[in-house]
Amino acid sequence: MEECICSDCIQQEYFRDLIRRNGNTSECSYCKQHKKTINFNSIIEEILEGIEFIYDDPANGLGYVDGEYVKGNGDIFDTYDLLVDELEFGGSPAFEDILNSLPNQLWCKKEFYGLDPAEERIFTWEQFVNQVKYKTRYFFIQEKSDINKYSPFNKPYEILDEFITAISSFDIVEKIKKGEFIYRARLDNDSIYKTPEKLGTPKPENCLKPNRMSPAGIPMFYGSADKKTCVLELGNKKGYYTIGKWTPVKELRILNLAKKFSFNINESTLKRSPHS
Ligand SMILES: [Zn+2]
Repeated sequence: MEECICSDCIQQEYFRDLIRRNGNTSECSYCKQHKKTINFNSIIEEILEGIEFIYDDPANGLGYVDGEYVKGNGDIFDTYDLLVDELEFGGSPAFEDILNSLPNQLWCKKEFYGLDPAEERIFTWEQFVNQVKYKTRYFFIQEKSDINKYSPFNKPYEILDEFITAISSFDIVEKIKKGEFIYRARLDNDSIYKTPEKLGTPKPENCLKPNRMSPAGIPMFYGSADKKTCVLELGNKKGYYTIGKWTPVKELRILNLAKKFSFNINESTLKRSPHS
């Protein structure tokens, strides 16, 4: 009988998710529970593919002097240490079988001397942030500076493609439909605002200073889904608070950055990304 494994018998969220999505109900060879399982060999294929995406045999590229490999990009592991220390398979009841199913060899980062793909992406993201914060806020596509000739990216902004691919799996784009309300409040020392023009978004010619999200000259509407938040936003000052109730004239798509999500650059993200 072929070995099967369930999502409880493996820790990595990537595999747990894979088993939940693609598994068939049968007895898990490890915990003996009847639940969704996947063929053990298919997991091994995935693990090996993942490992080989990041790691290689040091004999394939690392210098060898006086009976030792020279220091490259990170440590050298045998398969046991790689599985336990780097990939955290140690807690799985299938660990022995995983270990025995993989080649028994040494492993080091495939980028023998350079940044590995995850480090490369973090570095590129930092460059992009630096560029739009301090160098060229709007014209970053024309920016001439190249990263380096070994990078998978030609320009820092190209990281955005991968970022969008990765975050599009999170449910953070929401809709505000026609007829739904958004509140906006303004404060004045001695009068209330009586017209939408006064209470609404200022005209471009009045936007002389940059605000939290809006650069100088570009009007933006600051509003809230409830009245209390927009009043609290104005601070605890004396004066007249005017609250307006607004509704969009067409459906709006909103990026909800207040929603919690974590963004993890790992092998599974990279496997699906266009640059890898
Ligand atoms: Zn199990």
